[in-house]
Amino acid sequence: MQVTFPLAGPEQARGWFRETVRVNRSRFAVTTGLLAAATLAGLVGPQLLGQLVDLVVGGVGTDRIDLIAVAFVAVLIVQAALQRMARLHSGVLGEKVLAQTREALIERSLRLPLGTVEAAGTGDLLSRSTSDVDKVDHAVRNAVPQIATAAVTVTLTLGAMLVTSPVLALGMLVALPVLYLPTRWYWRRAPATLERVLQDWALVHADLHETTEGARTAEALGLTERRLISGSSALGRAIGGERALRRLQVRWAPWLELAHTLPIAAMLSLGGWAYAQGWAGLGTITVMVLYAQALAAPLDEVLWWVEDLQVSGTALRRILGVRGPAGKQRAVPRPRGRDIELTGVHFGYRPGQEVLHGIDLRIPHGERLAIVGPSGAGKSTLGWLLAGIAAPTRGTATIGGAELSRLPEEVLRGEVLLLTQEHHVFAGTLRENLTLPARPGGPDGWTDGELRDALAAVGALGWADSLPGGLDTTLGSGAHAVPPAVAQQLALARIVLADPHTIVLDEATSLLDTSSARDLERSLGAALDGRTVIAIVHRLSTAAAADRVVVLENGRITELGGHDELLAAGGPYARLVRAAQGA
Ligand code: ADP
Repeated sequence: MQVTFPLAGPEQARGWFRETVRVNRSRFAVTTGLLAAATLAGLVGPQLLGQLVDLVVGGVGTDRIDLIAVAFVAVLIVQAALQRMARLHSGVLGEKVLAQTREALIERSLRLPLGTVEAAGTGDLLSRSTSDVDKVDHAVRNAVPQIATAAVTVTLTLGAMLVTSPVLALGMLVALPVLYLPTRWYWRRAPATLERVLQDWALVHADLHETTEGARTAEALGLTERRLISGSSALGRAIGGERALRRLQVRWAPWLELAHTLPIAAMLSLGGWAYAQGWAGLGTITVMVLYAQALAAPLDEVLWWVEDLQVSGTALRRILGVRGPAGKQRAVPRPRGRDIELTGVHFGYRPGQEVLHGIDLRIPHGERLAIVGPSGAGKSTLGWLLAGIAAPTRGTATIGGAELSRLPEEVLRGEVLLLTQEHHVFAGTLRENLTLPARPGGPDGWTDGELRDALAAVGALGWADSLPGGLDTTLGSGAHAVPPAVAQQLALARIVLADPHTIVLDEATSLLDTSSARDLERSLGAALDGRTVIAIVHRLSTAAAADRVVVLENGRITELGGHDELLAAGGPYARLVRAAQGA
């Protein structure tokens, strides 16, 4: 499967960071302040030990030494308390940022045009909303606080070293080439490898998702072996990527170790020389060596956690890449009329695989149009284009002269709604299930009378009245089970409430038995009056009631006209009807 959601650019990621800091600025300020205070407290300890050494060397009494020892313990306690508070604050901050990122991702995912999700594949969306979010989660909870603490510690410790003894601080310079050159080598290679690893894992997820979702089909067609091979080759690629990354790290790590030990050795030699010259006391040398040693751990943390930060940076760009095609938000002309017009419409889900080949169709407002044709002819696809869910790859699909697929969501929903045979009953009350669409142009909330009218229009009022809690009965998995046919009626009731002037019904009554479907169509008749109804039908008997029938075969309209007229013509429609009757 092709991964087609893009990777957001670094500029977008930086924008996200700026916005996150702006939104949470006071929390950021408190956390950073606490981190700095904890680090400053940590710098006092070595200074006290240095004084202790000088006092011991100078041979003073035990009173001062006791005092310094008590102060040392007090500083340790203060430092521990500050560190705990800083971690607590950074943890809370991390959770907040994570929650905001997750919520934004869900919001953007829900706003995605269905066509975009189809094109990119749900596997990719799934991997971005699960494993990529997990990676950002890991970084926000661990890497960011660790790096922040470590970076502040490194900066302040270096500052303290310079103040304590500039001469001895020169010893730190030996670490620079050992640290800089290998790290530059590693960081030049790591980002591309990391990107590859994440992409490889996304493909593993997508493949797994496809295999589990289509497991029955794969088994029925004897494709299990092929799916297994595709799964292991995806996994093989991901493991190859991980290996490449580990190889880079194994070559980099020894240089880090060297960078820690070299300055201590340099500082001791320099210290010995400076002591002999009378430029530095034993206390100062002790303080400096302690500082140099204290630098090793945070420096290591910064460098290693940076890798997690890079992983999560790439993951973040993958998360931010989940958005609809640009341009959808641009101002578009509002519909001036309710007629739908398709002109020279071509459409393919994938490049080079066209499903619709040049459709011309004008549907005047108020018409009942039935679309019939063999399975796979492109009827549902045409329904998508008519409902503005997907855009034609060539040609135009307009309502009142405005491009359907470019209408903002809230405008489009007031014009055309698509109802398919897939109905989901959301966990919640019957009332919540019915009022999912926000009331167009009016306040939210419907009166019980309106809800009951809508239920009556789809023939589900009797069922609703039989529920123990009426409109407030909790439905969905684990609660009151809803039979599929009723779920379909509830979906229709939602449409009646949403009140669009054009409705595309894609085999929307297929789950009802013939007589219930007829009952529903009769009762819907009143509710649908005055609206354009485009029905993709599989029961040809339903087409007889339509004003016009479109016959779609192999992505082309092969016939168009009234039921009687087409029957008399003895063409494709008559053949379909005869075949249905014979069946
Ligand atoms: P119908 O509704 O007439 O059965 P469809 O519109 O569902 O036909 O399908 C028309 C063609 O488009 C079929 O060949 C089908 O395999 C293909 N198709 C449908 N949906 C998708 C999709 N989401 N991705 C790729 N191809 C699709």
